[in-house]
Amino acid sequence: MRLLLVEDDEMLGDALASALRLSNYAVDLVDSGSGADQLLNREAYDLVILDVGLPGMDGFEVLRKLRKRENHIPVLILTARDELEARVHGLDIGADDYLVKPVALIELEARIRALIRRLQPRRAQLAYGPLVLDQVSRRAWLTERPLELTAREWAILEYLMMREGRIVSKEQLLETLCDLDRSISLNAIEVYVSRLRAKLEADGVKIQTVRGFGYLLEERA
Ligand code: CA
Repeated sequence: MRLLLVEDDEMLGDALASALRLSNYAVDLVDSGSGADQLLNREAYDLVILDVGLPGMDGFEVLRKLRKRENHIPVLILTARDELEARVHGLDIGADDYLVKPVALIELEARIRALIRRLQPRRAQLAYGPLVLDQVSRRAWLTERPLELTAREWAILEYLMMREGRIVSKEQLLETLCDLDRSISLNAIEVYVSRLRAKLEADGVKIQTVRGFGYLLEERA
């Protein structure tokens, strides 16, 4: 699950981004409306957390442009405590939910889960043999035991499971993991995959290497 966080308050943005990454979300953080607009034009996200008070192009403008492009990705806006009109306006122009600052992290995560559940009910759980990934709670189980995964391992596994039976290239995986401020190499992808294998193979879940192409979770009957 890949989130775009738009927040110009550096301290708040960094704090929220690190906390969300710890909860296994891939997070891109951007501090301007125009930056957000460019990314939303170019990249595929599952959800946007959008501060409305931004220098230059504000959050409303980003939202308006997004909806004008018929992009229906869930958007959660962040507003200041005394901005009742801003919240109403945000909802009117297409926000799905709002949160008032200061943001309580547990509430933010609960709202994210609720939005994902409400808007993507069929994507809630992925299963592959003894392996189960819950995309709402961000938890994983292997043969009914909780499975610890890092955010990157989680993202790779989620991507492969959503494409069961199809070959996935390293470049595709790289794109899924892309945090804009930190570049990852194709070699790193190999490292993450081998760590995943170490966690999964004893229980019969095999990530196959398709030489020259990428990886595959073979379709299960
Ligand atoms: Ca702001």
